[in-house]
Amino acid sequence: MSKRIAIVGGGYIGVQLAKSLDEHADVTLIEPRSHLVHTPAMIRAVVDPSLTDRALIPYDRLLKNGKVLRARASGVDANGVTLENGQRVEADYIVVATGSSNATPFKPVGDDIEGLREANQRIHDQLMAARSIGIVGAGAVGTELAGEIAHAMPDKKITLISDTDRLFPTMPEKLGIALVGKLRDMGVNLILGKRAENLQSMTEPYAGSLTLSDGSEYEFDLIFPVLGSRASSELIEVLPDTQMSTANRVKVDPWLRPSSLPNVFAAGDVSDAGDGMTIVAASRQQPWLKSTLKALMAGKTLEEVKPYKPWGPKAPILVPLGPKRGSSFLGLFTAGDWVTRKMKGEDLFLKKYYKLLNQG
Ligand SMILES: Cc1cc2nc3c(=O)[nH]c(=O)nc-3n(C[C@H](O)[C@H](O)[C@H](O)COP(=O)(O)OP(=O)(O)OC[C@H]3O[C@@H](n4cnc5c(N)ncnc54)[C@H](O)[C@@H]3O)c2cc1C
Repeated sequence: MSKRIAIVGGGYIGVQLAKSLDEHADVTLIEPRSHLVHTPAMIRAVVDPSLTDRALIPYDRLLKNGKVLRARASGVDANGVTLENGQRVEADYIVVATGSSNATPFKPVGDDIEGLREANQRIHDQLMAARSIGIVGAGAVGTELAGEIAHAMPDKKITLISDTDRLFPTMPEKLGIALVGKLRDMGVNLILGKRAENLQSMTEPYAGSLTLSDGSEYEFDLIFPVLGSRASSELIEVLPDTQMSTANRVKVDPWLRPSSLPNVFAAGDVSDAGDGMTIVAASRQQPWLKSTLKALMAGKTLEEVKPYKPWGPKAPILVPLGPKRGSSFLGLFTAGDWVTRKMKGEDLFLKKYYKLLNQG
């Protein structure tokens, strides 16, 4: 009889793992949303709402043998998963991939896909009416957002604010320098090394004033708080012997286990395996999980399996500034407009994920 694998969360880890194990095990993917939210396209969707529909990819054709159960998990234990409606999914192995939440309109609140569509349109309308835009937080999302708005709406007065002295401070310096140069060239005003002290909302764009850590004050027609992802770790933080990390993530051992339950794994944004909270991290964890679960199903012990090795500081990152420009770090070297455009900026990986979810 094939082994039962329950995967909680149909984000980048969940969908890829479920599909890759569909022929090898009895797979159940538990996911309350009707669609995968393809986050790389949700930034450009703020300037082009017609992209929102394309960024929402239905789950209905993902699996041939296993099933996608439209439900929210409320508990995990060594024997399986309990759903919010009280139903049980018994399993031999459980993978928790509940990901993270982010600000509106980049990710839905809970499973509210319709609410995400509405928020996207509402904030687009506010952006159209605004003249001055403040973006607080210059990680990948904040930097890309500044580039998308500057490209699509060159008449807007955009200010990108970061509390770090340079962009992408953990990456090779060349990347941040190139992005600063391109953003300035596109008319974006950068304020680096200063904190916004009085954000009225950490998750919703609003009109108002900002006081920065040096006492300076700015008025904006629209302020986007873009402060990073926060892990959805409720299911695993209550398991025995777990340890919390930053951004609400849970630490995992070298075999991606968050607790002392030997058959419960956690991957992606929810777990801190030494990787960043990116799809790039998922792209390394998912193949490791697939081969590890296959080895366990074939009778190997976990100690016989090579531990997971995170990307470390060489994880690649692609930062488009609109569909034409951008800069990237590809592990060994930095690349400019052409490579960034071809690898990400033009298509935002949409084709790849339509294919993965078996949607034409
Ligand atoms: C705007 C934006 C743009 C981004 N662009 C990029 C990019 O270009 N490249 C890149 O590498 N990374 C990017 N990222 C980061 C990337 O989106 C995340 O790293 C990625 O989504 C993490 O995948 P995941 O599978 O861990 O979780 P998620 O994608 O967050 O998916 C988690 C899933 O779990 C489900 N879930 C949650 N709780 C439960 C529960 N109790 N029961 C059942 N299901 C549950 C959720 O509904 C969700 O579908 C971006 C992030 C944002 C916000």
